[in-house]
Amino acid sequence: MFLKRLELYGFKSFADRTELEFVPGITAVVGPNGSGKSNISDSIRWVLGEQSAKSLRGGNMQDIIFAGSDTRKAVNYGEVSLTLDNSDQSLQLDYNEVTVTRRIHRSGESEYFINKQACRLRDITELFMDTGIGKEAYSIIGQGRIEEILSTRSEDRRGIFEEASGIVKYKSRKKEAQKKLDDTEQNLLRLHDLVSELD
Ligand code: ATP
Repeated sequence: MFLKRLELYGFKSFADRTELEFVPGITAVVGPNGSGKSNISDSIRWVLGEQSAKSLRGGNMQDIIFAGSDTRKAVNYGEVSLTLDNSDQSLQLDYNEVTVTRRIHRSGESEYFINKQACRLRDITELFMDTGIGKEAYSIIGQGRIEEILSTRSEDRRGIFEEASGIVKYKSRKKEAQKKLDDTEQNLLRLHDLVSELD
């Protein structure tokens, strides 16, 4: 699986529709300070489901929408699409190419798509869980992140190994199942109370 294409529209400094094509091997992005290099990696994290505006260097999520410049009007929505080659079927979808899209409007409303089909954020998160590509995964190492990983608490470091070994999905499902069990137990308790009141 490799990153084939990234399309940006209205994302941070990318006012125009911009398409970046990648080929297998190493790609380097070069440019002067402030030209938008980090905005590219921000866009990848964003389309993969990043929910923290702060970690995208903004105050709120709408800050990622192109805000206008001396020569250009602001736009009303921002959109990023990321296309991965899936011919090795590493993503559990029956397609050789998978495109995930995220769009945000000035109103704050967000939309998510997988291969142009509307979906939930959760579907995107689950699709990439344990693949090493998720927004929290080790495939995107930001400035200062290596230091952070080395100095971080051992439990957090363990999280990185858990993602690499592919057990995050099961941990997340276990947590959900546990929550359902707890809710059911609470409901049962309430029912017992009602029954004893009726007796
Ligand atoms: P450096 O080499 O200094 O790290 P860089 O090439 O990584 O720089 P970025 O940090 O990606 O640059 O881009 C910063 C630029 O993006 C700034 O000029 C900033 O004004 C612009 N920018 C960020 N958000 C928006 C937005 N919502 N609308 C318009 N421009 C934006």
